[in-house]
Amino acid sequence: MIKKVDVCIVGGGPGGVLLANLLAKQKVSVLLVERTNAFAKTFRGEHLNEEGEHILKRHGIYERIEQLGLLKMETLEYWHNGTCIKTIMPDEAVGHLGIHVPQAHLLQAILEQAKGYPTFDYALNTTVKELIQNEQGQYTAVRAIQNGKELLIESQLIIGADGRHSSIRKLANIESTVRSHGYDLLWARIPAPQNWSPSIKMALVEGMQISLFTQAKGFVQIGWNIEKGSFPSLRKEPFTPFIEKLCLAFPQLASSVKEHIQSWKDFVLLDVFSSTSAQWGKNGVVLIGDAVHTMTPTGAYGLNSALMDAHILAEQLLQNEPFDYVSCATMRKREIEKIQATQIEKEQKFSDAFVVLK
Ligand SMILES: Cc1cc2nc3c(=O)[nH]c(=O)nc-3n(C[C@H](O)[C@H](O)[C@H](O)COP(=O)(O)OP(=O)(O)OC[C@H]3O[C@@H](n4cnc5c(N)ncnc54)[C@H](O)[C@@H]3O)c2cc1C
Repeated sequence: MIKKVDVCIVGGGPGGVLLANLLAKQKVSVLLVERTNAFAKTFRGEHLNEEGEHILKRHGIYERIEQLGLLKMETLEYWHNGTCIKTIMPDEAVGHLGIHVPQAHLLQAILEQAKGYPTFDYALNTTVKELIQNEQGQYTAVRAIQNGKELLIESQLIIGADGRHSSIRKLANIESTVRSHGYDLLWARIPAPQNWSPSIKMALVEGMQISLFTQAKGFVQIGWNIEKGSFPSLRKEPFTPFIEKLCLAFPQLASSVKEHIQSWKDFVLLDVFSSTSAQWGKNGVVLIGDAVHTMTPTGAYGLNSALMDAHILAEQLLQNEPFDYVSCATMRKREIEKIQATQIEKEQKFSDAFVVLK
């Protein structure tokens, strides 16, 4: 089967879905291609900062997410040996320290709106396998497999919004520089105890950061930094002494932890790295979000950066002048470099928050 569109967007994460929405709203014909069988199936970043909030409000999407459910963080707390030693309150003008938005709610709200635009189309269960070039070297189509059958999508512009292991980036031979940050992350989600306030809680345990993020609908997400590459050997160790450290750091959480995290299998491992690319696209391909700049979890910038990329790229594409890919990419690249530097600084200075104890 062959489809023809103005813009083919590969990847139905926050960046790809928002870009598809914004372009279709302006009557650009868009096909959003996602390899899984539903949007929001994969577990991804869910904390929105002020920047992400502003973008969603500007495009009339935030109100719908509010109806579906979100949760504003009221405090940022630093804990040591089961006691809160420092509490940071939100700036009054902002009113929160981040907003938890379940990924399903975010994508649903953006997609509901997009489905109302006649030029919006999407294809699930569709994995892009190949980029096709014309004689001048311009990428003019992608070859995808949809439910086992071949689908050719001819498109004036191809967007790689396909995440940290981007196929589009690799197929277009765009190099990526990967930086290790010395740690990986164990994730788990458990029910919040009663009277648990909407908060972000941090602890430093044996030199490693543990973070708790309260989530909408009564959950707490646990992010536990471990030494890079150490999980295979760690999981050979007895589990009880390890999980006890979490219970000691946050005693209020102990009974929920004991009930819901009973073995290493109850944690999901995130391979933490950041990456940048010198080129953000070429010859009819443009990359956005994690595909071109994977972020570490520090400060929850990944989701918000992907939304900003989509917002800026849509603005540039919809201008009447010819699309100036270079200036668009340069502007965002500078911003991302600053954020990635901030992430490194935050990671290096994390232990300073506990300096009062030294
Ligand atoms: C476990 C985990 C926790 C995280 N926690 C946070 C957090 O708390 N806060 C935060 O801000 N960020 C967090 N991040 C990062 C955040 O999730 C990403 O920065 C954000 O999702 C990037 O959005 P994106 O649209 O660029 O890509 P993604 O959300 O990665 O979406 C890419 C999409 O492309 C699809 N795809 C891939 N290859 C193909 C193909 N060949 N054909 C078709 N479709 C394809 C994938 O299925 C996926 O749906 C986390 C990431 C992970 C993995």
